[in-house]
Amino acid sequence: MSEQVKTEAVKEEKPVVKKFRKPSKKKVCAFCVAGEKTIDYKDVAKIRKYITEKGKILPRRQTGVCAHHQRELALAIKRARNIALLPYVGD
Ligand SMILES: [Zn+2]
Repeated sequence: MSEQVKTEAVKEEKPVVKKFRKPSKKKVCAFCVAGEKTIDYKDVAKIRKYITEKGKILPRRQTGVCAHHQRELALAIKRARNIALLPYVGD
């Protein structure tokens, strides 16, 4: 049973809409600016800014933190979570 499915190849070409992206200014790592090599996991006020409302760690591309400090930050957040300074899951 071969039913020929007529597919009308009327592909309307959509006009290419380029999404306008704001030319982002190059962010600089806040920890580098502050000259901090390590990030204190007890410093919740500082770390808070790098997690979402749901408690997730924000990606580097959003915060502008450098690779080194992102690693430190992730570790600090995980430690802070472990001792209940930060939530694993937010509300
Ligand atoms: Zn940095």
